[in-house]
Amino acid sequence: MQEFDPSQYAPETVAIRAGYRRSPENEHSEAIFPTSSFVFANAAEAAARFGGESPGNIYSRFTNPTVRAFEQRLAAMEGGAACVATASGMAAILATMMGLLRSGDHVVCSRSVFGTTTVLLNNYMARFGVDVSYVPLSDLSAWEEATQPNTRLYFCETPSNPMGELVDIRALSGIAHARDVLLAVDNCFCTPALQRPLDLGADLVIHSATKFLDGQGRCLGGAVVGDAERVGKDVYGFLRSAGPTLSPFNAWIFLKGLETLHLRMREHSVNALALARWLREHPKVTAVHYPGLEEHPQHMLAGAQQTGYGGVLSFEVAGGRAAAWSVIDATRMLSITANLGDAKSTITHPATTTHGRVAPEQREAQGITEGLVRIAVGLEAIADVQGDLARGLGRLT
Ligand SMILES: *Cc1c(COP(=O)(O)O)cnc(C)c1O
Repeated sequence: MQEFDPSQYAPETVAIRAGYRRSPENEHSEAIFPTSSFVFANAAEAAARFGGESPGNIYSRFTNPTVRAFEQRLAAMEGGAACVATASGMAAILATMMGLLRSGDHVVCSRSVFGTTTVLLNNYMARFGVDVSYVPLSDLSAWEEATQPNTRLYFCETPSNPMGELVDIRALSGIAHARDVLLAVDNCFCTPALQRPLDLGADLVIHSATKFLDGQGRCLGGAVVGDAERVGKDVYGFLRSAGPTLSPFNAWIFLKGLETLHLRMREHSVNALALARWLREHPKVTAVHYPGLEEHPQHMLAGAQQTGYGGVLSFEVAGGRAAAWSVIDATRMLSITANLGDAKSTITHPATTTHGRVAPEQREAQGITEGLVRIAVGLEAIADVQGDLARGLGRLT
């Protein structure tokens, strides 16, 4: 069989076909290789492998065929030269920072990133002499002003959770590169099916594969995509020494998840837009935050840098926490869980869960009020999701 060349095919095809080399058994579906080590023909071959003179597998903390297939498929989908898979999304962020930063470096980070990312920066990277400044995601002049001579990395998520705020990736990468800074984009919410940050100038793409890449809430994993030097050498070098590598079982789940990613992301987006429009018309809803709505302040930017608006939205009800909780508690089908990117729709109260540890002033500054509810819209019939929300909304006074 000829080697699959991703450059000759459309993105949907790449997601299904890239990255896999059949074993001598000629299996059709990708094989799982649950093995910790690999065998050498003789002592000389072992020596050559360990010495780096002969390529090939040694040990699954370094490389594993199933993990490699996932890495190569995701790299092709993001348009990156290298990808390393990790045990979780947080391990991907840790490996990026440990692989690329040193004591005395400074990071500028969007204040609207995944909560644990700020914990990692504030409580752990800080201990090793890496400083951080936080800026409002979409405020480009704030990124510029926060940059110091020792700034080495910009880190952001776009669109943000749970407010659906965006940053212009191309503009931000211009600011970064003029100052010799690397730009990392956590592409968890869009996935490469809806947004390719490397095409827009980003240097690194981070994934929590736990979310949409899996798509059915089964296992944890992550990945970093970028160039051969920084990702293929620096991030990979940390990973193989420190050990938070992806298991072949989980890699196989994600590999199969990628095959349906385009289809799912399109449907998540269709469902989320329908729900956002329905919520907007509901008399008890005071605001809806979703980049797909024409009145979203960055609707044009979302249309320009994404090929879809994604599956996550949030909305506000009057009456603060009590009202928000009563809407959540009145649901019978939606899952009350903070996870997202699942076929099952999930509902959560950000102010007391995902953003519960954020200082109240900072929460307010991000727009995360006590009356805010987040929905990660799944793949159920949207009328059923609306019906489940209508019950609690109807009871609000
Ligand atoms: C969940 C998430 C992470 C962390 O991923 P884990 O797989 O839970 O470690 C990082 N960034 C974003 C945007 C996330 O949603």
